[in-house]
Amino acid sequence: MKTVSIVISAYNEETNVQKLHQELSKELKVVKDINFEILFVDDGSKDGTLSEVKKLQSEDARVKIVQLKRNFGHEIAMTAGMDYAKGDAVIFMDADLQHPPVYIPQMVKYWQEGAEIVLTKRVDNVATSKLYKFCAKTFYLILNLLSETKIGESMPDFRLIDRKYVDFLKGFNEQDRLFRGLLSWIMPNDKVKVIDFVAPNRFSGTTKYNFFKSMRLAINSITQFSVRPLHLATWLGVLGATCSLLLGFYVIVERFVLHNPTPGYATIVAAVGFIGAVQLITLGIIGEYIGKIHMEVKKRPLYLADFIEADKNKKDKKANEQ
Ligand code: UDP
Ligand code: MG
Repeated sequence: MKTVSIVISAYNEETNVQKLHQELSKELKVVKDINFEILFVDDGSKDGTLSEVKKLQSEDARVKIVQLKRNFGHEIAMTAGMDYAKGDAVIFMDADLQHPPVYIPQMVKYWQEGAEIVLTKRVDNVATSKLYKFCAKTFYLILNLLSETKIGESMPDFRLIDRKYVDFLKGFNEQDRLFRGLLSWIMPNDKVKVIDFVAPNRFSGTTKYNFFKSMRLAINSITQFSVRPLHLATWLGVLGATCSLLLGFYVIVERFVLHNPTPGYATIVAAVGFIGAVQLITLGIIGEYIGKIHMEVKKRPLYLADFIEADKNKKDKKANEQ
């Protein structure tokens, strides 16, 4: 019988995991002829998430725990889950019930029918404001203009990936990673299914992404998949130089042709300010890339983790009961 792994990344989700497991168990019962393993990745939570998940494990031997030794971030948490998952397909989902388990039977069905990747598309997100949606739209527009790898909007990390593609993904060993981008890099043209859904509010707790974390994610998303900002920096330099030349030409014409020189300090200040700004932007962009190189060349391990499986005796007992 085939196995499907469900990888759930959780950071400070003590009030959600129980409810998620309950909903998940209900949905998994619907799916016949498939074994499931439920992999909770505790991303260094500071609350009682780990003990809640251990409680679940004592009642359900399908639950396995990847305990990260500190908070490594959502992308690394998913990577760790993927590394430990043994299934013939892996489903990724959040722990806050914004990825409703009710879609899992349909995902598995598509996979059994031959789909190798089953994506979900958020047709609406009741948890976000109009302003947030507008900012997200603008961000994806800029991202896709700047990036060579196209990244779909409203494509959350709720998806099923066949083992073949999981193994492809495991071949990427960059520190700085964005699953959405990596996936679109390996995305086949066929055997992909999409399920539309409306994302509900979090069951409880608050989002882990504040403004600065979201900005960092946005900048990382661009630099990971494109060097176009570096080209942009060059063109900014060219623009600055052209403006300065034109201004210089205008000053000469004013002095020797029109015989009407105006005191030049204001123009000089403006020109110096402009060139200074262009240089700073350019240095900032180059700095972003040098920072990335600095982090990548060290080749540190992506995470430190313990893997906790259900007690063997209990496991056999529970397996017999199910
Ligand atoms: N998450 C994580 N590590 C982090 C931040 C978040 O594993 O450092 C998990 C979090 O527990 C949740 C999922 O990633 O299950 C998505 O996070 P969140 O719900 O805060 O993001 P949002 O849905 O608001 O974009
Ligand atoms: Mg969420």
